[in-house]
Amino acid sequence: MEFTTQKIAENLWALDQKGVRSFFLVGQDNAVLVDTCFGGDILSVCRTLTDNPITLITTHSDGDHCGCDAQFTEQYMHPAEFARYESRGKGACKAKPISEGDVFNVGEYTLEVVVIPGHTPGSIALLDRQHKFLISGDTVQSGCIFMHGDGRDLPSFRESIIKLDAMRREGLFDTVYPAHGDAIVPADILEDHLALADEVLSGTAVPAGPAPEWFPDTVKTYRRGRAQMYYAVK
Ligand SMILES: [Zn+2]
Repeated sequence: MEFTTQKIAENLWALDQKGVRSFFLVGQDNAVLVDTCFGGDILSVCRTLTDNPITLITTHSDGDHCGCDAQFTEQYMHPAEFARYESRGKGACKAKPISEGDVFNVGEYTLEVVVIPGHTPGSIALLDRQHKFLISGDTVQSGCIFMHGDGRDLPSFRESIIKLDAMRREGLFDTVYPAHGDAIVPADILEDHLALADEVLSGTAVPAGPAPEWFPDTVKTYRRGRAQMYYAVK
């Protein structure tokens, strides 16, 4: 499976594969990879950019974010993902636990863990306060968020969106780097995510269309502004 490499900021690359995206940050002596896409040889792609040792940080345990994990020896993940990771046939989880406020330094970047359950139980984002960006995994994106299936929890997702939107309003970040959809998204998309979650949870949302055929018929596509999700109203 092929990757395309796009430099989106100094020492920061987006590695795209079939609709999913990892981020790679390179410092003087180390490097950080955020997620590993579906599979293939992401390590070789990283090695075209640096020979530094690589720390892997996993935003959550969905298969499109963990496909090349075996190529890395040092991995971090929120412990609320461990059981789910192992249940998805990835074998024993070798990741070390991370929690709210943990910090990873890589070159000019300081990545701070923000815990945002909902899309999955231990989803995390990474905040750089100085450069005012958030690497968001699947939780904030212009693509369609999967909120149907194992581990999804829409009320928790809504709480996480409220938490992130408060941080945005404080001025902690203005740009989002998501794993799907556009690689660079203005942070005020959070307003659309919150409005959509409110509408869907209150039962007032009208489906914008069906979901892809691999979902049960009850799952629909919901849209509000730039935000979209697949969800089955109970
Ligand atoms: Zn994903």
